[in-house]
Amino acid sequence: MSEDLVADLQKEVENCINCGFCESVCPTYPASGYTMSKGARGRVDLGKSLLSDLIQNGRTTMDLSDSFYSCLDCFACVQVCPAGVNAGKVSHISREIIVSQKYTEMDNRKETANMIVSTTRKYHDPLGLNRKISGWAEGLTFSQRSTSLLYTGNMYQIMPYSKKLSEMSMRMGSRYTAILGRAISRRPSLIKATGLFYNREMAITMNSYLKYIADLLGKAGIEFRYMGEDEPYPGTFLYDLGYEEEFREYANQVADMFRKMGTEEIITVDPHTYDLLKNQYPVYVKNFDFKVTHYLDYMKKLKFRKVGGQVTMHEACHFSLREDPYNVPVDLVRSFSNLVLPSRSGKRTMCCGGPNDLIYPNLSEKISRERIQNLMETGSERIITACPICYANLGSEKSVVDISQFLHENVVR
Ligand code: SF4
Ligand code: SF4
Repeated sequence: MSEDLVADLQKEVENCINCGFCESVCPTYPASGYTMSKGARGRVDLGKSLLSDLIQNGRTTMDLSDSFYSCLDCFACVQVCPAGVNAGKVSHISREIIVSQKYTEMDNRKETANMIVSTTRKYHDPLGLNRKISGWAEGLTFSQRSTSLLYTGNMYQIMPYSKKLSEMSMRMGSRYTAILGRAISRRPSLIKATGLFYNREMAITMNSYLKYIADLLGKAGIEFRYMGEDEPYPGTFLYDLGYEEEFREYANQVADMFRKMGTEEIITVDPHTYDLLKNQYPVYVKNFDFKVTHYLDYMKKLKFRKVGGQVTMHEACHFSLREDPYNVPVDLVRSFSNLVLPSRSGKRTMCCGGPNDLIYPNLSEKISRERIQNLMETGSERIITACPICYANLGSEKSVVDISQFLHENVVR
């Protein structure tokens, strides 16, 4: 472990005054039955224990992986912390410590995490889907000379497969996921089998959302190209799961692919890819000087008809709870509809539980149920999301719809 990681951990935990405010907003705390180690304050406390172990002994024998891997990285905790401590960052740094293995006595990495890392590096997407990634674009034409690239980051396409895997894992128990993860991380070619299992209805819906996005951009007069089946996944899981060196190498490969195409602008379509490319790629990739935009930035060029009835929005953490919040989705929906936000909105928005879906599916499901209830309390006819992970996790409620569909239905031609 580098000195920087120890210093980063110290810097993140040292100001905690143990007030517990962060627990009141941490989604995993009630969902875990109020287990301290799966709440924000517990994670900071364990971060302090880990730090003192490392300072005193140079290594640790503690297995804290469930506490840190179950953190959603939503950053709801830091919004209410009087000392500015971010339990999400504590978890992230601690996962990097676990993954580095240099300072731990045993291998506490998660099998599923290892699987995702090895398949992403081999296939450029975490589930080895390759050609299935570009199926949504069949029959569409793109301006292949444009220097603006529509970059889906594979996120809408992956969800029907990862959702099915997490449902199977819930039915068969977490041992099943661990065995599957172990087998695939040893033989990544086995990942092809996971392509047989997917939520067909969700796949059709996700493909239509991507079509709406492409059509909306076209209506806004934007010319763009698309990489098709060569489009790589951005490496979000590698970063989130703490595989820092693997992420650095992978992100540089992805950036090279963008460069080789003469790309100047990368138009993203989901909050995770947008956040990663805006805030992490410039840290890990030298001269990452692409203009990173979101397709919603261009929607102000379009006109939308006024919508009757009340709608609400589930605001994505990676838009609303980051240092530089991205409020375009809410402002846009509010501009032509009667938008009523739930009690947890803006800086108090609540994660859908989606980031935990593959490793802790039961925890994820409890969080999504609580969030759906919170959104339904507004009495709105429709719940709008702007994130494929949120849609996959909240979409069991039939009134949930992606913002691309809502815009497409109401755009004035
Ligand atoms: S809110 Fe901040 S200071 Fe209070 S317990 Fe949580 S991390 Fe510590
Ligand atoms: S980032 Fe989210 S899940 Fe993690 S400790 Fe903070 S509030 Fe809890």
